[in-house]
Amino acid sequence: MASFLDDNADLLYYLGEGIDWGALAALGEGGFRHADGFKNAADALGFYREVAALVGVFAAEEVAPYAAEIDRAGVVFGDGEVHFPPRLTAIFEKIGALGLHGLALPRELGGMNAPILLYYVCAELLGRADASVMVHNGFHGAIALAMLVLSSSEGTTTLDPSTGRVVKTRFSEEIAEIAAGRAWGSMDITEPDAGSDMAALRAAATCDAAGAWTITGQKIFITSGHGKYHFVIARTGPLDAGLDGLSMFLVRAFQDLPDGRRVRAVTIDRIEDKLGQHASATAALRFDRAPAQLVGQPGDGFRQMLELINHARIGVGFEAIALCEAALRLARAYAAERRSMGRAIDRHELIADYLDEMEIDVVGLRALAMHAAFEDEIGHKKALYGRFLPGGDVAQLAREVEVHRAAARRATPLLKYLAAEKAVELSRRCLQIHGGIGYMREVGAEKLLRDALVMPIYEGTSQIQALMATKDTMAAIMRAPQDLLRRHAQARWRALSSRDALERQVARLQQLSLSAQQHIATRTMTDKVRATKGAPLASWPAAMLKQWNPRRDFTFALLHAERLTRLLADEEIAVILASQAHRHPARRSLLERHLERALPRARFLHDEITHTGQGLLARLAARERGEGAGAASSAAGGGSVTG
Ligand SMILES: Cc1cc2nc3c(=O)[nH]c(=O)nc-3n(C[C@H](O)[C@H](O)[C@H](O)COP(=O)(O)OP(=O)(O)OC[C@H]3O[C@@H](n4cnc5c(N)ncnc54)[C@H](O)[C@@H]3O)c2cc1C
Repeated sequence: MASFLDDNADLLYYLGEGIDWGALAALGEGGFRHADGFKNAADALGFYREVAALVGVFAAEEVAPYAAEIDRAGVVFGDGEVHFPPRLTAIFEKIGALGLHGLALPRELGGMNAPILLYYVCAELLGRADASVMVHNGFHGAIALAMLVLSSSEGTTTLDPSTGRVVKTRFSEEIAEIAAGRAWGSMDITEPDAGSDMAALRAAATCDAAGAWTITGQKIFITSGHGKYHFVIARTGPLDAGLDGLSMFLVRAFQDLPDGRRVRAVTIDRIEDKLGQHASATAALRFDRAPAQLVGQPGDGFRQMLELINHARIGVGFEAIALCEAALRLARAYAAERRSMGRAIDRHELIADYLDEMEIDVVGLRALAMHAAFEDEIGHKKALYGRFLPGGDVAQLAREVEVHRAAARRATPLLKYLAAEKAVELSRRCLQIHGGIGYMREVGAEKLLRDALVMPIYEGTSQIQALMATKDTMAAIMRAPQDLLRRHAQARWRALSSRDALERQVARLQQLSLSAQQHIATRTMTDKVRATKGAPLASWPAAMLKQWNPRRDFTFALLHAERLTRLLADEEIAVILASQAHRHPARRSLLERHLERALPRARFLHDEITHTGQGLLARLAARERGEGAGAASSAAGGGSVTG
């Protein structure tokens, strides 16, 4: 029987010694003291492996063989509803019957209480079979988890103080429906004039005298928007309140009556006719005074959305890795068979180099994804359940939570950025390795490329990930510049004195990354000093310490954000693989292969950051001054007309 788990040694590593499943299980199982839970880490891990094995076979045997058929059939819009073709319906009925929608939900809410990391592993297995099946599947369990996360943070979930089990939660009915496979949801943010720029969102929520909220407005590009439960970001403050005027709502999009009729509160205007991901419906929605429940407080919406979207970004990371894995395998199999000029094409140096790079890319990305997901989950679980473990030191726990969260915050945009970009790159290479036949539908390489192309766009574009990673890096340097110098000195010392040749190379990579960061920070400070120069002396302290304008003062950092992000991601992967190699020497060769490619890349990126950009920034500034003058004169002209 084919299995997408058994044939994947790297994934098997993470289902064994590569991850501290015991720590995740202990927190989720209340120190193994729950009467209906696992009694020890070995039992829990045994169960996690069984689930992954089952999904590995399901993906290989019951999803992958139908991926091309599902892609051709797509989903259909008719009578105001979205209809799945029978094959897709059968797949989701099976996923529901296996209980997978409740995989990471607490047992007391109808779930299996497994770690979210196991959910991501299963997502990767499904995504290798078909990215869009994985995506639609994600809008079941992840929406139920979002309900739990948001109700916990608004204080409407009560835990038993002696065990940490959920006693009561605001959305228990909805969660039970999703866990049973009878409903799913969506996340409704994007509007026709507001995508990356959330401050421009216009859909408005109003509250009547009786305290009942309704939403009016339009949302577009909503994945699985034909679902029942919609988290909707809507404006409760004026437009000029920007992000602070946004709030989070849960909207029940329809009600199914006992006589079989469906009454809709949210209208589906259309489903998008899109390039790929055909098993996932992308809907345009209309809200016309749709009844809504406020979640949290008015004005909390952007913060709540960030909390949810970070998980979604890790999810896209795994989705992209799944696609990379599929592209690598398809390319490798073809290259071993296809002969050209007397040899199989995988014996031609150039193709062998492509395949080698693709292999190590997948290994590096998976290391980054597992690290981000583990740190995120252990941080959240320690914060939520740590106090229920025997002998916990609360202050120590709080420090650990902060360390885990910082690690997850650093790794998540790097993962979303690099995995999504690599999904496009690797699927394009897979097509190229196939030559002409790759361009034909029969092989499936073009489908991988079509499915991949959206990954750098949704859940925050690649450019937005790069801006976030750069902003966080620069903010840390501005807060503690001495820390950068200390880390630089340490890296220099290790690059010279470490007894391990690979550790010396990791340190060299870190030196290049830190040197690029230092260059950007120095340039930013120099520009700020120059801009402050013309101002009165008395205003300098405030200008240097407080008045930082993200648009005006960080132009150099923003210009190089993507280059810096690539450098940071290569560095992060090297550090993770080095730590694995330290614990498990069999992983050393992977670190070696990553470094062989990452070091020259880092030198190139470092050179670009330190030697390019001045000319473009000068031209942009001149254009901005010109536009400013134009805008000022047209405003003056307008004034004279009305005057
Ligand atoms: C298939 C699909 C499914 C989707 N699913 C959902 C969903 O479920 N829910 C939902 O709410 N949305 C969803 N979206 C919408 C998606 O999140 C947005 O398309 C995305 O955030 C980009 O917004 P935009 O399309 O308005 O592009 P824009 O924001 O207009 O961006 C256009 C380009 O400009 C770049 N850019 C923008 N601002 C900056 C800046 N400051 N600096 C540098 N570059 C910048 C962007 O990176 C991009 O390259 C989906 C989209 C697609 C295609």
